[in-house]
Amino acid sequence: MRLPLAFYGDPILRKKAAPIKEITNEIRQLAQDMIDTVVAEHGVGLAGPQVHQSLTIFITVDYVEQEDGKWACENPRVYLNPKILSRSEELETDEEGCLSIPDLRASVARPVKIEIEAMDLEGKIFKEELHGFNARRFMHENDHVNGVLFIDRIRGKERKELEGALRQIKKDYYLKVKK
Ligand code: ZN
Repeated sequence: MRLPLAFYGDPILRKKAAPIKEITNEIRQLAQDMIDTVVAEHGVGLAGPQVHQSLTIFITVDYVEQEDGKWACENPRVYLNPKILSRSEELETDEEGCLSIPDLRASVARPVKIEIEAMDLEGKIFKEELHGFNARRFMHENDHVNGVLFIDRIRGKERKELEGALRQIKKDYYLKVKK
């Protein structure tokens, strides 16, 4: 089931999410609904607060081009109570966007490589080493469950230049949905 998104300006996006203590049927359903939502929205990752659930969960999906030229969603992953164990000193700058901040893309510098730990839906703790795009996506989603948005990682003049667009996004999405 597709869930309604929380947009920039919504206080839930600024709250540190609560850890998941028990994997209930509600959590399993939430994970499935988040995967349905991200695919419907053509996103690559989605965190609990973005669907109005202040819980430390996020999901990621990949899109793979099929033989008939169509793109199919593959490899859905669920991360519960994620943690970053280590970050490379080396940074890489690339563009990011966010389903909660529609129509805005901006460059963010982040570590190029990270080691992470998280729990899956079976309650098993797993570790991964992530590089490049996968590392960036993990850090973007992990920021969400800590109440941080990618625009917070942009400072100075670049950030100032986004202010007008951000005000407009708040008006066009968050304040409109709230009415
Ligand atoms: Zn996002």
